[in-house]
Amino acid sequence: MLTLADIFAARAAIAPVATGTPLVPSPYLSEVSGQPFLLKLENMQPIGAFKLRGALNAVSRLPGGSAGVTCCSTGNHGRGVAFAARERGIRAVICMSNLVPQAKIDGIRALGAEVRIVGQSQDDAQAEVDRLVAREGLAEISPFDDAHVIAGQGTIGLEMLEARPDLTTLLVPLSGGGLAGGIALAAKAIRPDIRVVGISMDRGPAMYRSIRAGHPVEVDEVQSLADSLGGGIGADNRFSLALCRDLLDQTILVSEEEIYRAMQILYWEDRIVAEGACVVGIAALLAGKLTLTGPTAAVITGRNCDMALFTRVVTGQSVDLDGYVVEGRAYAR
Ligand SMILES: *Cc1c(COP(=O)(O)O)cnc(C)c1O
Repeated sequence: MLTLADIFAARAAIAPVATGTPLVPSPYLSEVSGQPFLLKLENMQPIGAFKLRGALNAVSRLPGGSAGVTCCSTGNHGRGVAFAARERGIRAVICMSNLVPQAKIDGIRALGAEVRIVGQSQDDAQAEVDRLVAREGLAEISPFDDAHVIAGQGTIGLEMLEARPDLTTLLVPLSGGGLAGGIALAAKAIRPDIRVVGISMDRGPAMYRSIRAGHPVEVDEVQSLADSLGGGIGADNRFSLALCRDLLDQTILVSEEEIYRAMQILYWEDRIVAEGACVVGIAALLAGKLTLTGPTAAVITGRNCDMALFTRVVTGQSVDLDGYVVEGRAYAR
């Protein structure tokens, strides 16, 4: 079982490459929520997303002489694994479905990793990973269901509470649950009364449904403004489901329209370029789905968005997500 000691060990393993992102106040969101509201800027990581933490920690634990690593990914984990593999001088093969935006694929290739685009879902990409493990002896690094990855993501929780010991609520985007599970583990070990809330998009929220069902549930993968939150949690989930079930105080769903509006707010009010996945906590707050009781921090998880799509959102144009249209609306307070 993972403990706080694993998270401190992860911090030592990944420093100084992937630690120490700023936790900055958002004047506008503080005003709207009536509480000090802070943003943990993981978009400032060298790969533009927090996933570097878990990937670096996992790669650092591989035995010497490893043939290389492989993973499936919605884009950012692959980029983290590619970065970590390059640092260590080993081969990386990243498997993704064709729902992954081109910007993310390009970022991974630029780090020298091999990219395989397979099928329509994370499950299709996973089949290729299984093949690479069996045939080519590559080590698999799960994007969320790996103890070293979870410990790496948990270092975010340590940093937030060190910077602001008075935080009462953490808002964490929720997909496979490695991020929320790791942060909740760290934060609650230090401050048992802190509230950790996981937020997902309402189109294909695998962890949200799995927690309620009590076992891993399969979801349809569809295009979303929060593309980094797509995909299942794995039929034989070992760690992240139990962690999220036991440690998250609340899980909330938000719509594409709510994500659209929150992306505009983060951009126009805080001047931050971030993926739709990052703003789900802000979206929940603005939609009235969340009550805050004290200083709150939201994890801004990454910036690796398709810039053409991002530009449409912040300039108030309509967005077509493979047939699901989010009506355009110019930003106004
Ligand atoms: C992976 C990812 C998440 C969700 O992390 P999980 O550990 O899968 O829950 C959130 N935001 C971004 C930008 C991501 O890349």
